[in-house]
Amino acid sequence: MNKGRLIVVSAPSGCGKGTILGRVFADSDVYYSVSCTTRAPREGEENGREYFFLSVAEFEKMIAEDGFLEHAKFAENYYGTPRKAAEDNLTQGRDVILEIETQGAFQIKEKMPEAVMIFILPPSVEELRRRLLKRGTETPDVIDKRVSQAAGEIEKAYNYDFVIMNDDLDTAVADFETVINSISDPETDAQVHRADNEQVKKMIKEVLENDA
Ligand code: ADP
Ligand code: 5GP
Repeated sequence: MNKGRLIVVSAPSGCGKGTILGRVFADSDVYYSVSCTTRAPREGEENGREYFFLSVAEFEKMIAEDGFLEHAKFAENYYGTPRKAAEDNLTQGRDVILEIETQGAFQIKEKMPEAVMIFILPPSVEELRRRLLKRGTETPDVIDKRVSQAAGEIEKAYNYDFVIMNDDLDTAVADFETVINSISDPETDAQVHRADNEQVKKMIKEVLENDA
């Protein structure tokens, strides 16, 4: 049996990756990896659904036991991808989606160069702030922290395989589908989303300069 494909998706917090992935993979048989984190659950989040919520001691024990495919510290909390579920699903031939930040994404690419890396860009950092405010799940303090980290995250987009702009949601969902389809059919027009394309490099630069 062929192994599944490992698809890594990163974007600054509030950019819309949860919204896009929810639409793209609504009726598909992919395995959506559930990460572990030491951050507190947000209202409405359930242990084992959005995340496995662990204490720092529990998380560090899992690091020591090599229980993560990757892990990183982000915004003062640990986040990590449980190794077993991801590896089992890949072996069973199922595609696996990791929604993770950039440090973890690069750890994955190093260990598993066949992973497909997709970065979702916001139109600007100020628009990110508006989306986080609209979502209403974080305090203004936490929003400030996340927004101040965003530019650093966006700079990493140059090193991904594909970059998608989430300005208009329907367009972003369609672009994401084009990229996913291109993994099995290289004839599709996903070239326009490749991070080494000059147009895409210019787009990343413009997002960063919008907020200079
Ligand atoms: P993430 O998973 O990247 O943290 P979410 O998917 O939770 O982000 O989206 C953050 C907020 O932005 C949500 O309120 C969502 O409805 C909104 N949003 C997502 N995409 C768009 C878009 N293209 N235009 C306007 N708002 C959007
Ligand atoms: P949030 O606290 O908003 O849910 O997530 C913060 C950041 O951590 C997001 O960029 C999210 O993609 C990332 N993240 C979630 N799970 C993991 C994980 O398992 N590993 C890594 N490295 N990052 C993760």
